[in-house]
Amino acid sequence: MASSLLSRSLSALRSICPPASSSTIAADSAKLFMPFSKRRRVPNGISRFSSLVRPAVGPTPRCRSASGGLRTVVSAIHSAAHHEPVVSADWLHANLREPDVKVLDASWYMPDEQRNPFQEYQVAHIPGALFFDVDGISDQTSKLPHMLPSEEAFSAAVSALGIYNKDGIVVYDGKGIFSAARVWWMFRMFGHNNVWVLDGGLPQWRASGYDVESSASGDAVLKVSAASEAIEKVYRGHLVGSSTFETKFQPHLIRTLEQVKANIETQEYQHIDARSKARFDGTVPEPRKGIRSGHVPGSKCIPFAQMLDSSNMLLPANELVKRFEEEGISLDRPVITSCGTGVTACLLALRSPPAVAVDFEFSSVEAMDAAGLDTEGRGFASAREMWKEELGSEDCGGESNDACRAKRRDWYQKGIAYWQGVEASMDGVLGGYGHVNDTDVKGSEAFLKPLLLERFGTGSRRLAALDCGSGIGRVTKNLLLRHFNEVDLVEPVSHFLEAAREKLAPEDQKFSEHRAVNFYCVPLQEFMPQVGRYDVIWVQWCIGQLPDDDFLSFFKQAKVGLKPNGFFVVKENTARTGFVLDKEDNSVTRSDSYFKELFKQCGLFLYRTKDQKGFPEELFPVKMYALVTDKPKSTNSGKGKSRRYKPGVIKS
Ligand code: SAH
Repeated sequence: MASSLLSRSLSALRSICPPASSSTIAADSAKLFMPFSKRRRVPNGISRFSSLVRPAVGPTPRCRSASGGLRTVVSAIHSAAHHEPVVSADWLHANLREPDVKVLDASWYMPDEQRNPFQEYQVAHIPGALFFDVDGISDQTSKLPHMLPSEEAFSAAVSALGIYNKDGIVVYDGKGIFSAARVWWMFRMFGHNNVWVLDGGLPQWRASGYDVESSASGDAVLKVSAASEAIEKVYRGHLVGSSTFETKFQPHLIRTLEQVKANIETQEYQHIDARSKARFDGTVPEPRKGIRSGHVPGSKCIPFAQMLDSSNMLLPANELVKRFEEEGISLDRPVITSCGTGVTACLLALRSPPAVAVDFEFSSVEAMDAAGLDTEGRGFASAREMWKEELGSEDCGGESNDACRAKRRDWYQKGIAYWQGVEASMDGVLGGYGHVNDTDVKGSEAFLKPLLLERFGTGSRRLAALDCGSGIGRVTKNLLLRHFNEVDLVEPVSHFLEAAREKLAPEDQKFSEHRAVNFYCVPLQEFMPQVGRYDVIWVQWCIGQLPDDDFLSFFKQAKVGLKPNGFFVVKENTARTGFVLDKEDNSVTRSDSYFKELFKQCGLFLYRTKDQKGFPEELFPVKMYALVTDKPKSTNSGKGKSRRYKPGVIKS
């Protein structure tokens, strides 16, 4: 975010007077943001105007001149300076008592903030403001949070609040600019362009020294409950009272999930994601439970906070144009904005002129739709596209035709041929990184030991493990044989397996308490374990050899090999997003969310996950996943420390 002296002084100036916009923004925003005009009163029937047509009049912003006095801004309506989506606290203060200016407190907070916006409204709000319930005035038929309500429902709720089409609406929130932008967008969605966001919100209002009301009038509280009753009635199919607010839906201001998915291919719209960079990159978990991390393929990230200065006021247009350009976003081309649940996306829409916001939950876009790369630098729009190319058409249905069978055979043959050419040594199986063995084993042990204790207790259960894609038996020798009485190895490359057998199963080990027992020379896609034999099935640095469908079949079948309480451990490289196809050994490195999606499809539950620490920076981040076949209880054990699954961090 810009923080130069220049930008600070610009925003200080803007805080007392609406800023001049750059010509780029002005040219586009003229179509969308209703300009301020000389006349203060808003005439009837503003909803007759489409958002692409400039209404002739609107409320007049007042601002404190640089010298400090109040003056009415009398700029011509085509003046770029007034194509602003925000009004200042000073302007609002000067116009607060105008009968056709309605003020809405649209405060809403993230669930983890545990704030109650309606209670806070009752404690302090701008005099005369009504409360607009972002969660309540929403589509009651959707399970997703605060989806856009129907026209009928919006009209009923807004009418119950006592709002008319002739009103100019100023929306604010308790943070500065956050959820207010969402409500600004909702009014515009329904054809009402006489709507502005209070720049800097309640904090700026207070900072300007203006009074707040500390209790809502009975009438204001009644209106809030009337709005929520009206919404309920509409969704139950009951009649509601007469409407004072006619809507005119603006379909060009919203995109559905299907349209966003299609856009991944067509790239007709530049897709901007308003979430934080860490959420966008998938390096921190989503704040809502059960939502996968990552972003829509092809989208770019401009965190909404970058639209604001340190007082949470909207940055001047020229600075924002620069910010968009830095991200490679051209304001001459259409834009879609999105976020987690359609709140902060609207903040971006304040300044991205085509201002199309998306009302969908991020998780609805499948991980397999994420774009990826191969090691020769070729990009794929999605994993589906890559698999289609590598393995034949999607309707191949596995084994249904010869061409597809041949392609799949080639896929595996290339992989095996690569490994057949690799020396049976630590450096060989670790791609020249034999020296990471110790760190790897330590990391695995720290992950495995507490799991063994939790799942199998301290009793005298004899433990058995399966080492999948075992190579030369490195994992068996250094890790599994220390904790399991019996270990079986499965590995398709015979010279690796022979090396393992020589090292691990000499004659004198036959009666040892910890021994390698069976050596299966088969690839995982053909392996069927003995039923109920294993406590742990360990899968390390080999599952990338299997395409998704064989990945799913392998785990589904291998489940029968687990004893009660048994579990899988998958320890693999992870791609930062999407996937990376290695053309040399025909393996695919999947992202964390890609793995999680596949695990889900296998019917497996993530019991714990952890990042491997201490590997050289140039390597892919490595993650360990413990997977169980029954849904884990919400707490695993009461040992004080938090042991619940917490999505791990993927190093970028
Ligand atoms: N897991 C071992 C070896 C990793 S190297 C370790 O961590 O030391 C990757 C291994 O996957 C090689 O041994 C290779 O032969 C094996 N592999 C290749 N294709 C496979 C397949 N289709 N099924 C199972 N293993 C495979």
